[in-house]
Parts: sequence; C-alpha cells; structure tokens
Amino acid sequence: MKRYGLYINGSWSDPDTGIWFDTQNPYTGEAWAKIAQGNAADVDRAVAAAKAAFEGVWGTMKPTERGKLLVRLAELIERDAARLGGLEVCDNGKLIAEMGAQTKYMAEWYRYYGGLADKIEGAVIPTDKPNILNFTRYEPLGVVALITPWNSPLLLLAWKLAAALAAGNTTVIKPSEFTSVSTLEFMSLFAEAGFPPGVVNVVTGFGLEAGAPLVAHRDVEKVAFTGSDIAGQKIYEAAARKIMPVTLELGGKSPNIVFANANFEAAIMGAISGIFAASGQTCIAGSRLLVQRSIHDKFVARLVEVAGAAKIGDPMSTETNVGPITTRPQFQKVLDYIDIAKDEGATCVLGGKPYTGKGAQGGQFIEPTIFTGVTNDMRIAQEEVFGPILSVIPFEDEAEAIEIGNDIDFGLAAGVWTSDIGCALRMSERLRAGTVWVNTYRAVSFTSPFGGYKRSGEGRESGKDAIKEFLQVKSVWIAHETTPQNPFIIR
Ligand code: NAD
Repeated sequence: MKRYGLYINGSWSDPDTGIWFDTQNPYTGEAWAKIAQGNAADVDRAVAAAKAAFEGVWGTMKPTERGKLLVRLAELIERDAARLGGLEVCDNGKLIAEMGAQTKYMAEWYRYYGGLADKIEGAVIPTDKPNILNFTRYEPLGVVALITPWNSPLLLLAWKLAAALAAGNTTVIKPSEFTSVSTLEFMSLFAEAGFPPGVVNVVTGFGLEAGAPLVAHRDVEKVAFTGSDIAGQKIYEAAARKIMPVTLELGGKSPNIVFANANFEAAIMGAISGIFAASGQTCIAGSRLLVQRSIHDKFVARLVEVAGAAKIGDPMSTETNVGPITTRPQFQKVLDYIDIAKDEGATCVLGGKPYTGKGAQGGQFIEPTIFTGVTNDMRIAQEEVFGPILSVIPFEDEAEAIEIGNDIDFGLAAGVWTSDIGCALRMSERLRAGTVWVNTYRAVSFTSPFGGYKRSGEGRESGKDAIKEFLQVKSVWIAHETTPQNPFIIR
C-alpha cells in the first residue's frame, strides 16, 4: 500500500504525529492507501511555507506569469485526467463514467482563471477632492486555507484553488480525510508546471486536528470551504473570532419542481439525474421532488420503473448507473434516514434497503429509494440526507410550489420543469436559491457563479466575479503637490 506524506514547500514530509491512517475503497471495502495524520504543528510548517512564498517569489511574480503557469497546469490536468479520475473512483466510489469527464473538465477552471490573472484592474476614482489622485488596487489576501469534502475532491478544489492562485495568493489545502489521495497525487503537476515551492501545500488529517488549527492560524487570511452546514458553521464562528473572510459552499435540500405541462420524459430523466446521480451524494441533489397533483401518480409510476431498472455495482464499469456510498458513517446515516421517513409515515415505493445483489462485492450500496406521501414538514423533507433517497411531494399550483419550494432553511439550487415560459420566469424569480435550472438539472460551468442562499452558504465560486473573493481593495491617494497644509483640520 502506498503511504503518502504531507506536501509542504514542494516536498514530502512525515506528520508530526508519526501516524498514518488507512483510506478505504468504498466498492471493495478494502484499505488501499495510507494517509498522514497531520496536526497543528504540521499546519504551522505549511502556513510558514505558504507565507514565505507569498512574501517571496510568488508575491513578486507578474500576473501574466501566474496566468501562464495556470494554463500550463490545465494542459497537464488534461493529460493526466484518466489517472486522476481513476484515483477519485478508488477513494469515493463515484462512477468512472462521470469522474473521467469531470476531471478533464476541471482543467477549464485553471485555464479560465489563468486568463483572468492579468485582468484584475483597479480604477482611477473621480473624487470630489482637489489636487489629488485617487486610485484603487486589487491585492491578494495572503495565505488562504482551502478545505474540501469527499464527494468531488479535485473539482471542488479547482473552484477555489484556480481563483485563489490567479488572484496571487498562496494556499494550504486540507482535503477530506476520506478522499485525500487524488489531491496528493495532483501536487506533482504543480512542480511540473513550474509553480515555485510553497505556493500550494497540503496537510492531510481530520477536521478537528488539522482543519480547525488551519482556520484558526494567525497567518491564514481567508478560508474557502465546501462541506456540511454543521462544519461550515463552526468554521464561520472561528473565522469571526479573527474577523476573517470566508467562502462557504454548504449543503442543500433542493426542490425539483415538475408541472403537468412539462415534457414528461425529459422531466423524468431530470428527476432521476437530480437525485440518483452519484448515488445522491451531491450538494445540488434534487432531493425534494415536487410534482403537480394532476400527474403525480403517473409520474411516480414511471420514476419507479426507470429508477428500479438502474444497474447497481462496480463504479469502474462504464455500464454501472449507481455506485456505492462513499463512507461508512454516510452509509449508516442514509439507512437511519430511511427509518426516519418510515416512522414519519412516508410510503416507500422503491428500494428502502441496502443492495447486496449481483456486483455488490464488499461495497456499501443502498438501493435507489423513493418515498411518496411526504409532507414538507417531515425531517425527510427538511434535512440533507446526501444519499439516493427521493421525497415526492404533490402540489396544486404555482403559488403552492413556491411556498413548499422555499419553505426550507437551505437555498442551494432548484429545478423547474414546464413548457410555459411565463411560469419558468416567475418561478426562477421567486425561488430562493443560488441556482435555478429550467428544463435541465445540474448544469454548472467555470463561467457562471455558483453558491447558496440561506443556510447553503456564503459567497460565490466560479465566474469572473468570484476572483474578488480572493482579493482585497486598497484605495491609494497621491497629492499633486506637497504644499504644507494646516494639520489640525481634517479635509
Ligand atoms: P464535512 O463538513 O464533514 O467535511 C468537509 C471538510 O471539512 C473535511 O475536509 C473535514 O475534515 C473538514 N472539517 C470538518 N470539521 C472541521 C472544522 N471544525 N474545522 C475545519 N475543518 C473541518 O463534509 P463532507 O461530509 O466531507 O461533505 C459532504 C457535505 O458537503 C454535504 O453536506 C454536502 O452538501 C456538502 N457539499 C457542498 C457543496 C457545495 O458546493 N455547496 C459541494 C459538495 C458537497
């Protein structure tokens, strides 16, 4: 089994604890790599390396040069996409059919932000003050902490890292303890692309032992985090103690809303992809399916037919539709929510138990599961499960769809299926979510802002404005002349 160290200042080192823990393949159930258990002492070393790089070679590098390095990195990612995607599958059990393409696509974030690196422009401000020039400069923050979850480790890192580096910051990354390998393997590409040592560092380990000291570190100037709302809240509180800016991409309980006038089959496929892609382990999962009452029964019958035929099994096979649940605790959590839904009186019309059939190996599989008779006040409708569990809720009309759709603490995404353009426009205006899709689900791009309303997060990633999340603005005043002024009067 390969044993990974910490990646600090361009080289590999042992953790202060002297401890390595196993990372499991969720399909085989077997350990396949050993990960260093980092702690606060390791965080100190990594932050010091990042600070030295920021104050040294990286800080003096021209933005155009930074941009070129990011574009070179994008080319190397494309070259190595199959290898990196395969590592992701071993660690998180998502389908190779998805991860190969996703890993290749992630190169676009580095290319896009590489292009933006030398387009960060301040402005000359036309102030009311006479004989003085005022202009703004956008400056990097310094050392930024990037903390990622287990469900799409490299893609969600790209959303942060590409913008952070383009803006001129240096970074310390803390990947999920469940899926650290792809991030560690990714590091060799930075050296190959020509990034100076210390610009990108990785401290692996657990949230409280490695993540929390990183957030609290005096020399860390910002944290960009993707993960659960519970950890996000703790990080926000820790950041508040330092008055430090954050970007938080948290959970969701997104409504996917189907009107009777929608293209029926397209809506079926959108509902299935909304919840069962990646076995429901996506923040944008359309886990609350709102179906107009007049088509409810017919819609559910077809959903059961299509989802019931999904092929469950080996994520490395391109034939597989539904892979395993990534982590053991998550597997148990999903099973607990199935019991909760049953206890609340919801009707299980598909699945509702672990899958142990053909192709299951030692994997922690859960059958695609559909509950009907769900009301929006039930826990199964209000809490993020992060698994292949769909709650179907009927509605009468637009007003009720909006009321149910928005009656939730989260606000990450929403889907609307309709052939009425007026309805589409009204719904997209009134749904309280950072992303609204009409007659599609899951579209995201490096060009378009992504983030949550309400408890789903703070700040935005992707798109050109997101680079400002990693910059601060300085206002510079230069007098035209140096005539002495009365110092006791503020002008
Ligand atoms: P998690 O919150 O358990 O962990 C995420 C990361 O935070 C890990 O690296 C973990 O070690 C670290 N961490 C945990 N506690 C910490 C603390 N107190 N201080 C610093 N670091 C800490 O999340 P997870 O289980 O890995 O991921 C699943 C969650 O991520 C789901 O809730 C999902 O909705 C969310 N998610 C959101 C998005 C989005 O873009 N909005 C995308 C993917 C996943």
